[in-house]
Amino acid sequence: MSNNETAQRPPSVDALARALSAEVDLPHAVLVDCVRRAISIQPDDAAKVARQLCEQLHASLISEVINATGVLLHTNLGRAPITGTSGQRATSVEFDLQDGSRGSRHTAIASLLRMLTGAEDALVVNNNAAAVLLVLSALAENRGVAVSRGESVEIGGGFRVPDVMRRSGARLIDVGTTNKTRREDYEEACSTPDHDIAMLLKVHPSNFSVEGFVESASLRELASLPPVLAVDLGSGLLDSQAPWLPSEMRPFPTWVTDEPSVKQSIEDGADIVMFSGDKLLGGPQCGIIAGRSDLIEECAKHPLMRALRPGHHAIVPLQQVLLAYLDRTVTEDIPFWAMVGVRDDALAGRAQRIIAEAGIGEARVSSAVVGAGAAPGATLPSHAVVVSGDHVEQLRRAKPFPVITRVADGATWIDLRSVHETDDANIIDALLALKR
Ligand SMILES: *Cc1c(COP(=O)(O)O)cnc(C)c1O
Repeated sequence: MSNNETAQRPPSVDALARALSAEVDLPHAVLVDCVRRAISIQPDDAAKVARQLCEQLHASLISEVINATGVLLHTNLGRAPITGTSGQRATSVEFDLQDGSRGSRHTAIASLLRMLTGAEDALVVNNNAAAVLLVLSALAENRGVAVSRGESVEIGGGFRVPDVMRRSGARLIDVGTTNKTRREDYEEACSTPDHDIAMLLKVHPSNFSVEGFVESASLRELASLPPVLAVDLGSGLLDSQAPWLPSEMRPFPTWVTDEPSVKQSIEDGADIVMFSGDKLLGGPQCGIIAGRSDLIEECAKHPLMRALRPGHHAIVPLQQVLLAYLDRTVTEDIPFWAMVGVRDDALAGRAQRIIAEAGIGEARVSSAVVGAGAAPGATLPSHAVVVSGDHVEQLRRAKPFPVITRVADGATWIDLRSVHETDDANIIDALLALKR
């Protein structure tokens, strides 16, 4: 066989894939697929291209990361972190353990939420956008829903109140003005027969704040009007008094005490409230509908419910989170509230230790934020390890866990409020690697 003939023969797919397996930790079938694609793209340099494709694919896999951004609920990083759930066992998600009949996945959640918020009943769906869609579809299809012009907002990620309204088949009736809406504006809409108002919808402008010449009607003012009073709370704080926070945190931050909450909304006369599970509640991604039992019942039997129902991977951690609220173990058992509850001086001490061990960086005072569009403008005191220059990309490639950071003032900030202290050792390793 001449040299020429050897060169022309296509490289063996299997041999190339096996060579790659020493470098990239991916199943053999994946390596084979990358090699095949590489050969079709660039037969002369298949080995190199295949390695690039494998690395790209590996980097695209969802993996655990260290959130050092100081944004506690980072939407791109999965919002509220949750602790691991049950392993390989089945769950009694829709099985009644008392009599062996079919159960409901909502029963226990509804009981716990009743104790925590005073809501008569509750229902869980995949996220809060789904909750709003279901409530509008079930309670206001082909009818009017009055929304203040100041609350007809976009929440982010393409969730716009008027669009969801249209999808649900409800008719949006704008009331008031962008900066001022009073009870009389809702009243006028209700007394216009053509509008056929089934619901007044209040939307918590969770991701922005308006200041100055502004006024909006309170739930108490609207509660006496005949239509169903619904509130899209978004952020999902259960109780503005936060009885689950340790007393040494008093006075509690205003982003807690001033945030409209589920309990206070129901006390103030809301008939039905909707909120996310993975914002201030600190649980898994889901949406919760809580309120009057006749309205919850309507939502539960709507055909959309089947398409929006969550799996036990969400229901079980949600139940854990609600039990932690009742057990007053929130700052130990719910990672979001644990991050909030860490003392500022503890963060300063951790920054010093990291810097001493890594031999790089300086400790600086920093400001963390809640994130996920909740509590806009509110900051939490924090401390960061700051390294001059932009190392964001290199830290993102850190092993075993990518460290996600931000750049400000020409330096890379590793904010410690959003990092669990068990990850300090990984941060030290990532910093040591920067020096190499
Ligand atoms: C976040 C938010 C939503 C969307 O909730 P998801 O759980 O992300 O679907 C809807 N309305 C308000 C007011 C929100 O803050």
